[in-house]
Amino acid sequence: MKAVAVIPGRPNSVHLADAPMPKVTDVPNGRGVLVKVLQIGVDATDREINEALYGNPPPGCDYLIIGHESFGEVVEVGPNVRDLKPGDLVSCTVRRPGGSIYDQIGRNDITSEETYYERGINLLHGYLTEYFVDDCEYMVKVPPKLRHLGVLSEPASVCAKAIEQAYLAQQRLQVWQPRVAFVLGSGQIGLLATMMLRLRGLEVYTLARSPAPNLKAKIAEGYGATYVSIAGTDVSELTRRVGKPDIIFECTGSSQIAFKAMDFLGHNGALIWTSITGGKREVTVPADQINLQWVLGNKLLVSSVNGNRRHFELGIQALAHGEAAYPGVTEQILTHPVAGLDQYREMMRLLVEDKDALKVFVNVAG
Ligand code: BGC
Ligand code: ZN
Repeated sequence: MKAVAVIPGRPNSVHLADAPMPKVTDVPNGRGVLVKVLQIGVDATDREINEALYGNPPPGCDYLIIGHESFGEVVEVGPNVRDLKPGDLVSCTVRRPGGSIYDQIGRNDITSEETYYERGINLLHGYLTEYFVDDCEYMVKVPPKLRHLGVLSEPASVCAKAIEQAYLAQQRLQVWQPRVAFVLGSGQIGLLATMMLRLRGLEVYTLARSPAPNLKAKIAEGYGATYVSIAGTDVSELTRRVGKPDIIFECTGSSQIAFKAMDFLGHNGALIWTSITGGKREVTVPADQINLQWVLGNKLLVSSVNGNRRHFELGIQALAHGEAAYPGVTEQILTHPVAGLDQYREMMRLLVEDKDALKVFVNVAG
């Protein structure tokens, strides 16, 4: 069967590989689920893996099949699979357990081990194939009415986890009632975070580079948020007008902005970091001022990566809730479909070159 792979460590090595067809019996104990791939989303992580900045192949293999944002249809299940059947729509989680106590309780997303196993990213093959198989433990059902948004299940899980982590951590405050949130970045994660924070009733400001009007502004406003182009606005002027945010959700991919955000968080606020920055950039920060403000303001930094099956469920619930509250908005994120695995070069070109490509995804099968 066809698969899209890279040779980790060799820049721009994306190619079409021939992979063996998986079988339900590849998973022990009759728990295998064979999935026919419908759509796979790609993101900056796939771009960085192709640029040889990130990612590792499975042990003993010189290539890595990429793709970690999965959506497909169950075609066969092993004898011990209870709650999935052929025809069900599913997304599959990314991280697999290591050996820590967190991994043992199903929290692979917060493993304490340095080595982490992620399908399509690190040490395990991904989903940019025609079929894949995995343990039913990692498969999360997508309701048929959400089929058009199924490919956003993984990015939605990343946002749902990060926001939930902040709310859990803020229980330290006993009566926290956040009112204003700033989302820094308006890629898929920024827009889905905008939606989820709006669904929690917050006044949301989505800050990004491009001047409005543009599609990202239209989507943010479709969710009832305010889009602010930082090209034309001074952030301190914005905080004077609307107040300092109780939550900042940072997902720009820039470590400089991640640190800059520390400057304008409100008292008792939570700053959520989700950007993955593979480079080696250094910045200077007003350390005394930030330290003073953070200590005097009891401020909190929450970092978050990945998501386990419960976060996928939360993400899918939020996509459904968002569709009911803001019908037709989320599907506008899905800007750049690519027709089939054979078009892998076009997929990578869009990811690297097309600044208007909010979301690139491959239609693998109909
Ligand atoms: C993926 C996460 C993953 C992270 C780190 C992101 O692009 O969406 O699932 O944990 O990269 O590898
Ligand atoms: Zn990703």
